[in-house]
Amino acid sequence: MKRLLLDLTPDELKLAVSPDYRSRQLFQFIYRQYGENFNALTTFPKKIRAALDCEFTIEAVKIAKKQNADDGSIKYLFRLNDDLAIESVALLMRGENADLRAANWTVCVSTQVGCKVGCAFCLSGKRGFFRNLTAGEIAAQVLMVKKDLGLSAEKAVNVVYMGMGEPLDNIENLRKAVSIISAESGLNISPRRQTVSTSGIAPKIDLLGAMKLGVLLAISLHAVDDGTRNQLIPMNKAFNIARLLESVRRFPIDLRKRVMFEYLMLKGINDSLSHANKLIRLLNGIRAKVNLIVFNPYIGSEFERPDQRSIEAFQRCLLGSGLFCTVRVPRGAEIDAACGQLQERQIVSCET
Ligand code: SAH
Ligand code: SF4
Repeated sequence: MKRLLLDLTPDELKLAVSPDYRSRQLFQFIYRQYGENFNALTTFPKKIRAALDCEFTIEAVKIAKKQNADDGSIKYLFRLNDDLAIESVALLMRGENADLRAANWTVCVSTQVGCKVGCAFCLSGKRGFFRNLTAGEIAAQVLMVKKDLGLSAEKAVNVVYMGMGEPLDNIENLRKAVSIISAESGLNISPRRQTVSTSGIAPKIDLLGAMKLGVLLAISLHAVDDGTRNQLIPMNKAFNIARLLESVRRFPIDLRKRVMFEYLMLKGINDSLSHANKLIRLLNGIRAKVNLIVFNPYIGSEFERPDQRSIEAFQRCLLGSGLFCTVRVPRGAEIDAACGQLQERQIVSCET
């Protein structure tokens, strides 16, 4: 079977294709000229092109389906070469001009097909685990979205590892994907524009910190007491809230940035003002920002969305304490909820 060229970092490509300037040209051809097959690599002698074609394939993902939301965000269903499917979302950031190619985009990528963590509220978790994505399959999602949106190679996007799967459960491929996505001769997206979201595998947060990749961190906290969190995220029994926050406090992060805490609001479970006050106390001393996610129901889900009034009261309480806090409202009716339910609309934001 052919190897996936996108799985190679620039250094690995140098070992596979020489001299160095040829491997650089090839990397640019893929990530900056959006090249799809070796025949179009006309600066290369025919013999080298044929040899490359024998050993490698460029295509990692195909668009199987695309759905547009009212606010311009787009959800992609990608087909992998072994026919499994993953999802990515191109999130259109707020307050942008009409020219979509000039707008600011955040690409939300999957890191696994399915997920082993099995959170009670998550469809990816309920569907079980199929396999890890390779580094190239992760990078390919960013590349395909840029290509499909018609963005120029120079146009920077943000990347959030918040699609299907638990990124820290696939940490070696994640590390490699970050390095491929940030390579200057390729997509050139600084690690500071890349955010890894985790359900809280505390030792792996320490490992990610030790890797010194320079990425930002998002923690799916979702509860302020271990009893509730155990119910929602079974892994909390192994790494409870206190243990998780210890790792977060140790995580190296640019002093101008904050750790994002995602808090999924579930009616009657974690949405009261006493929960909000407990959250304020828990995050005391951490450079944090909170993103309240409104639960996106799906057929058969046992949870409900809180009403608008309690969401607003919860947010006001956090803002009142001086915490940064945004609200994310997934709109399942427009983009059906299957991966991280990432459709984003910020109702009120105190962030500039
Ligand atoms: N596994 C990682 C990243 C992928 S999930 C993590 O858990 O952080 C990305 C986000 O989507 C998480 O914060 C997750 O809690 C949230 N999510 C999962 N199911 C959801 C649902 N039904 N409605 C709203 N958000 C959901
Ligand atoms: Fe996995 Fe994240 Fe879904 Fe939990 S919320 S099952 S960790 S993808």
